[in-house]
Amino acid sequence: MGVMDNKVCIITGGAGSIGVASAGLLLKEGARVMLVDNSRDNLNKAADDLKEYGDSVASVKADVSDTEQTIGYINQTVEKWEKIDVLFSNAGIHGANKPVTEFPEDVFDEVIKVNVRSSFLACKYGIPQMHDGGSIIITSSIVGVKGAPGVIAYTTSKHALVGLMRSVALEVTSRNIRVNLLCPGPVNNSFQADVETDAGRETGTDATAMFNSMIPLKRHARPEEIAGTVLFLASDQSSFSTGSIFMADGGLNA
Ligand code: NAD
Repeated sequence: MGVMDNKVCIITGGAGSIGVASAGLLLKEGARVMLVDNSRDNLNKAADDLKEYGDSVASVKADVSDTEQTIGYINQTVEKWEKIDVLFSNAGIHGANKPVTEFPEDVFDEVIKVNVRSSFLACKYGIPQMHDGGSIIITSSIVGVKGAPGVIAYTTSKHALVGLMRSVALEVTSRNIRVNLLCPGPVNNSFQADVETDAGRETGTDATAMFNSMIPLKRHARPEEIAGTVLFLASDQSSFSTGSIFMADGGLNA
């Protein structure tokens, strides 16, 4: 018996590093998981990585910042497995690494659209299809609670999710749906490696080494460590937590 037995979970950004690691842990605990991503190739690869879970895992290609495609992935999940227990709004993009005075406006708009509008849409269309007592987890970042130079769009978007999470959490207490924010620090994966390559190019430093020296635990996270916090927030283990910010950052915010 697992702590997620028969729970229906949606993971956006489900073909990515944190998405797949979280799916693996939720599936191992008995969940049924719908992976949502805009990359069909990566979804196929994720499904292959998780094939030991058979029919308990499925996928749908969707741009999560688009209204019709959001309604589409919610409906496909409900048609397959009925109501949703866990909505993990996790898809995100980094944008560019430039000072605010040089930051491209189209990139700023795209980052806000993918990182903020997608979570708004997931809540707007997902909540009516959720079981009472369900859990919503929204992925922010260490830069959801701290500023950072050079990543103005990403930092703004991840801060915006704090307000979204808190307001939605207060709207759905009568249904005992819990809404929490997950704030990872730097993870050892290609998303963060790209951020660090960009930052290193802009600043002429080794950004990976710089992060490792700044993080009190002196290393990046493994995706599985972030997934552990996702499992906690998805399961009844966190039944008295809502409207909260959960750091998984190696102490960076201490
Ligand atoms: P990742 O790039 O491996 O995963 C992100 C996934 O989101 C990708 O599979 C991508 O295809 C998908 N995606 C992007 N735009 C989309 C869209 N419009 N519609 C549907 N899918 C879309 O990176 P990750 O590290 O797994 O990131 C997951 C989340 O964690 C992101 O929100 C990211 O901002 C956040 N985060 C990551 C780190 C880190 O160090 N990697 C740190 C803090 C927060």
